[in-house]
Order: sequence, then C-alpha cells, then structure tokens
Amino acid sequence: MSNKKNTLALHWKILIGMVLGLIIGIVAVQIDGETGTMAKQLVTDWVKPFGTIFINMLKLIAMPLIIASLIKGVSDLQDISKLSKMGFRTIAIYILTTVIAVTIGLVLVNTLKPGAGVSEKTRDSLIHEYAGEATKRIEAANEQAKQGPLQALVDIVPNNFFQAASSNRNMLQVIFFAVFFGIGIILIPPEKAQPLKDFFDGFNEVVLKLVDLIMLMAPIGVLALLAGLVVEAPSADLFLALLSYSVTVVAGLAILIIFFYPTLVKLTTGKSPKFFFKGISPAQLLAFSTSSSAATLPVTMERVEEHLGVDKEVSSFVLPVGATINMDGTSLYQAVAAVFIAQVMGIHLGLEAQLSIVLTATLASIGSAAVPGAGMVMLVIVLNAAGIPEAGLALIFAVDRPLDMMRTIANVTGDATVSMMVAKSVNKLHDPKVKEWDDFA
Ligand code: ASP
Repeated sequence: MSNKKNTLALHWKILIGMVLGLIIGIVAVQIDGETGTMAKQLVTDWVKPFGTIFINMLKLIAMPLIIASLIKGVSDLQDISKLSKMGFRTIAIYILTTVIAVTIGLVLVNTLKPGAGVSEKTRDSLIHEYAGEATKRIEAANEQAKQGPLQALVDIVPNNFFQAASSNRNMLQVIFFAVFFGIGIILIPPEKAQPLKDFFDGFNEVVLKLVDLIMLMAPIGVLALLAGLVVEAPSADLFLALLSYSVTVVAGLAILIIFFYPTLVKLTTGKSPKFFFKGISPAQLLAFSTSSSAATLPVTMERVEEHLGVDKEVSSFVLPVGATINMDGTSLYQAVAAVFIAQVMGIHLGLEAQLSIVLTATLASIGSAAVPGAGMVMLVIVLNAAGIPEAGLALIFAVDRPLDMMRTIANVTGDATVSMMVAKSVNKLHDPKVKEWDDFA
C-alpha cells in the first residue's frame, strides 16, 4: 500500500478522466452518418453505464453515512445546548450566504443584460422546441406549490424510519431521525450509551473506508459520465444563442467559488485559499461530473474531515443539512434565469419584483432537492412570485445541464466553507490529518 509508485494526486486523476470523457464524447458526436450513430450508441451502451454504476455507489452509501456519522456526531456532543448553538449558527450562515449569492446574481444580470441580445426568432424557436419539457417542470412545481405553508416543516418529520431511509430524496427526514436518536443517546446513562456509540463509531469508519474504495473508481466514473453527457447533449447552436445568459450565470458562480468562499474561509479561519482548494477540489470535480450535491456528499464529508480539519462533530451535522438546504449556486442561477427570461420577454421588473426574487430564490433553493435539474423545477416558483410567465422556462432549458454542473460546484463549496466557519466558531477546527487516497493505488 505504498504511494511511491503512484504519486499523481486524486484531483489530477479525476481531471484526466474528465478530459478523456469529453474527448470520447466529442469524437463520437463529430463522426457523421451511420458510423456516427454507431459511435454514439457505443458510448451510450458501453461507456455511460460505468458512470451510472459510479453514481449509484456514491448514492448507496449516502444514507448509511448520514445515519452513522450524525448519530455519532450528536451523541459525542455531551450536552444538547452545544447542538442548538451549532444548529442556529449553521442555519443563520447558510441563509446569509444564500441571500448574498442571489444578490450577486441580480447585480450581474441587471448590469450585463444577457436577455437584450436574444433575437425574437431565437426566442420563438426555443419556446417552440422546449415547450413540452417546460410544461413537465411547471406541473412538478405546481404540485409542490399546492401544499400549505407549513408542509415543508411537516415533511421533515417522518412517520416511518424505514420508509424515510428508503429514498435519497428524504434526506432531511433521516437527518431529523438521526439527530433525535443522537439526543436520546446523550440523555441515557453513559454506561448504557457506550456500546451504541462504539457501534456507530465503527459503522462510520467502515462507511468512510467505502468512500475511499469508491473514489478509486472516480477517474473512470467521471470519464463515463462526461462521455455519456456529451453524446446526449443538444446541438451547439443552441448553446451559442444562450451564450450571454450562460456567461452571466458562470461569472456569478465563479465569483462565489473563486472569490467569495475562499475569502470567507481566510477571514474567519485564517486558512489560505490554496489549502482550501487543495482540500476540497476532488469534491468539486465530482459535483461537476454528477450534478448532485447528494451524490457528492460522502466525498465532501471525507475531504472536509480529513483534509480541511473540520471535526466530525461539526461536519456530520453541517454537511448533510447543507447538501439538502444550502444551495447558493442554485439560488444565484434562479435569480439570473428569472431576470433573463423577463428581459427576453420584454417584461420590466421593478424593485419590488427584484426583492421578491431575493426572497423566493432563497426559499426555492432551500426547497430544491440535491439532485440534477432540481433547481429548474423550483425556478417556476420564483417566476410565479415575480410575475414572469412560466413558459419562459423553455428559453433556458437547452443549457440547463452544463449550468447545473457548475452550480452544483458552488453548492458543495458553500457547504464546505460553512462547515469550516462553524467548526472554527465552536473550537472544532484542527490541523488536518492529511490522508492520501492514492495509498490504495
Ligand atoms: N443539482 C443541484 C445540486 O444537487 C441542484 C440544482 O440546482 O438543480 O446541488
């Protein structure tokens, strides 16, 4: 198990996998005629499934990881007041960073005005082409909107643990149960609690070891995911028509990822941007390749604990909660998309409408599931609140996937940032015990 043979860091291996995946996809797309169709089919049948297996493996351990690490983390806290202190700070910082992200998005989209450059012809052809897809999202969002104001709260409390744990969409319910169970462990006599704590401790170690093993497959997994995405992507012409919109979203996300988070980390914990990026980059690359904060969660946890020095007591709570409710990238995207659609449709948005976007994009990002494309469904609610026609969703559909990949990076980076801030504030940020995954190679 020596790492002498193999010194290439994990993020480089993943990057190489991504580049190879893109090349394979682009080559398959470029070939014309029957051979081209065969090449694309070959990628779909023989390459893409390895990406699906990789994502499935990550999702497979997400639930066990949340249960084990959260029960262990909470039961280690010794007293409940620590939990409420940490919980309050976590939620407050999450909301604050999300509001800042929406504001950055609004400032950019109002200054760059990407909607101004879209011709009427492009607008009509986009609406025509994607009307069906848009309707599906609108129906899904309307289903959610029908429920009462407290439904989101009711949904957090499961009535059956096994049912809750049977779907990755129910993460908040499982978090609720694990915290509740952990509190129970704190409240019983220590000698009775010890065997349970030892059990979950061991369970947690095993799951983290499984993350190590799954990450050995990461370069192949991302290669397969990206090759599959490229051969199934819509034509490049549409990307060009929506270039200024995409550039606005990406610029906002880049401000968050490259400037905002590292600065927050530096100011609050004193850790350098280099340290931060070195620690979190494999999770960022995975977020990009999978478009899912939930699928990336096991890796985010591992990186934050082992490489950024956040104590398990903090990361086990802050990260699963963050993966489900803290989506700065998604909220920024929703703000830009809403105003862009209004610009293309010639609708003027006053201050009141823009403020309603800040509020609803913050709430909608909290309500978005940590899976690919979820942000677009919740965008419908933002459009409704600002009085923008829902059908406008069709305008941005073509470029949603690549932007989803980018916004998921911001979502995951935001969670990692807040976990460091909260850890520092409760004296639980240590020097990391840097562990090389490449030890296995
Ligand atoms: N894919 C995003 C995530 O998992 C959510 C979204 O914006 O669609 O974080």
